[in-house]
Amino acid sequence: MASIYEHMGVKIIVNAAGPVTRLSGALMSEEVGAAMQEASQYCVDIAELQAKAGEQIARWTGAEAGYVTSGAAAGLVLATAACVTGLDPGKMNRLPDTSGMKSEVIIARSHRNFYDHAIRAVGVQLIEVGISDRFSGAGVRDTEAWEIGDAITDQTAAVAYVANSRARPPLSEVVAVAHKHGVPVVVDAAGQLPPVSHLKRFIEDGADAVCFSGGKAIGGPQGSGILAGRRDLIASAALQHLDQDVLFELWYPPPSLIDKDALPGGPQHGLGRPCKVGKEQIVGLMVALKHFVEESDDVRRDRWENTVHELAHAIGSLPGAEIGVQIDPGRPVPMLRLALSETAGMTGIELVQQLITGNPSIHVGTSQVYDGVLTFSPMCLREGDAKKIGNRLQALLS
Ligand SMILES: *Cc1c(COP(=O)(O)O)cnc(C)c1O
Repeated sequence: MASIYEHMGVKIIVNAAGPVTRLSGALMSEEVGAAMQEASQYCVDIAELQAKAGEQIARWTGAEAGYVTSGAAAGLVLATAACVTGLDPGKMNRLPDTSGMKSEVIIARSHRNFYDHAIRAVGVQLIEVGISDRFSGAGVRDTEAWEIGDAITDQTAAVAYVANSRARPPLSEVVAVAHKHGVPVVVDAAGQLPPVSHLKRFIEDGADAVCFSGGKAIGGPQGSGILAGRRDLIASAALQHLDQDVLFELWYPPPSLIDKDALPGGPQHGLGRPCKVGKEQIVGLMVALKHFVEESDDVRRDRWENTVHELAHAIGSLPGAEIGVQIDPGRPVPMLRLALSETAGMTGIELVQQLITGNPSIHVGTSQVYDGVLTFSPMCLREGDAKKIGNRLQALLS
């Protein structure tokens, strides 16, 4: 056991659930860790570091500008705030009081999720549009782009879109209708990587701002993320995020990030200030992102597939359960699927409870647990974990 956790009395888990935040995100490579350690040994101007990182993000995403956030949810806070205030420092100072500002964000009803707290934190109201009856089994429809256009008023600050392979309506249609009314579209693409091409995809579809998590597939620091988008929105996001404890005459923001001459004065600490990002996060994320882009999707897939096959082998055959390797060309991460049969003697929930509370504590994917199906992601497994999972499942199910 790593002594740093042992010292703190914290147990190390086997994480087959994938890089989820509550289980501490992804594993970082040694190289990323070393870069963060090196970064921690010097002081720099954080705005300059953000500007340089932003240039790299812009290159990789195809956006006009980029910024490092403390996560995709923080990116939603900053992007929403930017859409509400523009580059007006008076408005920035008044948030989350949106009196006299555009204070509504439109979202398709089927896109609602608990991360939208990040949007509402800005002081805006979410306006849900459409009826997604395809999910209730009562119908086939979801929100349509024209309905989003129909809901836009002079109070609309932005349209929020949660990207997903099944998301409706298509982003390009939402963008077309929003842009017709001069309204920006903010995309939550937190977990939409890999493939690498998705770094560019939502910008190509016309999104004005896109958020990704740094601590999921990219393998950056857990508390990091990317915001990419229009230059003016990124500038506004930066102004509301950066520490502003500085006299205006002594403030030298990098011109590529913030045009000081265009401002009547410097805003104070903004709404995004609690979403602080350290130099170690910025540097670590940039190194991780470079690796993520350079490792081809095929190589990454093969690596994960090998881990899944190793896991299947370590589990072997189980009475009462069927093991399958789920390799679907449409899904970027291959998974191991365990389906309990009627003869298993326990439900999916009971099996997951046993796995979590056992020693070692094993966490799995539970999106289909009520159907008796557990999924195992290769993304956060360490050397030796496959054996631990196999032994435990054999003990529980044989
Ligand atoms: C993970 C996730 C988030 C949050 O991302 P963080 O980087 O943890 O802030 C937001 N939205 C969706 C859809 C996610 O999957």
